[in-house]
Amino acid sequence: MDEAKLRDNLADVRRRMADARHRAGRRPDDVRLVAVTKTVGPDAIRALQALGLREIGENRVQDALRKQETLEGRLGLRWHMIGHLQTNKARHALRLFDAVDSVDSVRLARELDRRAARDGLGPVPVLLECNVSGEGTKHGFPPGELPAALDAILPLERLAVEGLMTMAPLVADAEATRPLFAALRELAEEARRRTGRPLPHLSMGMTQDFEVAIEEGATMVRIGSALFRGT
Ligand SMILES: *Cc1c(COP(=O)(O)O)cnc(C)c1O
Repeated sequence: MDEAKLRDNLADVRRRMADARHRAGRRPDDVRLVAVTKTVGPDAIRALQALGLREIGENRVQDALRKQETLEGRLGLRWHMIGHLQTNKARHALRLFDAVDSVDSVRLARELDRRAARDGLGPVPVLLECNVSGEGTKHGFPPGELPAALDAILPLERLAVEGLMTMAPLVADAEATRPLFAALRELAEEARRRTGRPLPHLSMGMTQDFEVAIEEGATMVRIGSALFRGT
């Protein structure tokens, strides 16, 4: 792990986030950086923590478990589950993660709620994953199913639904993702009006497209490659 390179990459990402925020006229504390550590080991997580990073994302229960064993805990970081979670791993996920940002079925939400209740946990912050593109990702609620999903999930007492998440398909031109991010923002606005809940968070934007996502209202970006490239 080249820590100097990691520091430079982090500074570069933060600068680009700030520029995008300025273009959109948003406040400095409006956008959180979730470092996606799925391709790197525990040493990189320790280095990120030393650099002042507070939130990390992993997309597999097994990887998070292995890394936390090596690190002997969560290092005081906020761990986000950002990948598809199988219902039978819900209980494990609740032990390893502070938030589940990729709730993609009512069945999973009910299982998380049931397990959290049984283990005396929660309310657990969650985001509902939406498949706004209808392609590229196979997980997430299609926009038309979101209202019914919210009606089923909002009453679950051990879950705190904080907003929506999406993953844009890989494209050569980041601008091509703009309509998808705008669509997620509109879905959230509509959901707020309809349910009266604040639903403050939009997790959208990765290395290829985080600046566009911030311009379109992202409150969390999930970034991996831009942080670890060359380290
Ligand atoms: C890997 C991953 C990211 C980060 O992707 P990069 O292109 O490396 O920035 C973000 N979100 C999810 C759900 C991921 O699996």
